[in-house]
Amino acid sequence: MLGKCPYCKDGCIIMQKKIVQGRNTKVYTCSNAKFISEDGELFESVSSCSYRIWGNSLLKYGKRFIGEREVRELLSEGTFVAVLHSRNGVEYRKYVIPHDEYGISVLFEDEVAV
Ligand SMILES: [Zn+2]
Repeated sequence: MLGKCPYCKDGCIIMQKKIVQGRNTKVYTCSNAKFISEDGELFESVSSCSYRIWGNSLLKYGKRFIGEREVRELLSEGTFVAVLHSRNGVEYRKYVIPHDEYGISVLFEDEVAV
């Protein structure tokens, strides 16, 4: 387990390997989330919490994969700093915070809301 779920009181976040659209990927899910399909894309309505972070959530920002160390930091500190890349290859750093619907959200302001 990587840490406590930020959205329910008794869940913890675990890493699972899934095949989505023919590709191996990792998803970090709440232990209270139940998958409905083998490809891992849907969650059962009986899940008491469907919080999950797809390992490739930051792909569009040029970050291929969110590692377990970063998820641990997100859960314990409430944020982690991601090294991202713009389309023209410029590197920049942004705070990433949990988001109940999307798993994570990138803060484009420089300060972390506490
Ligand atoms: Zn949860």
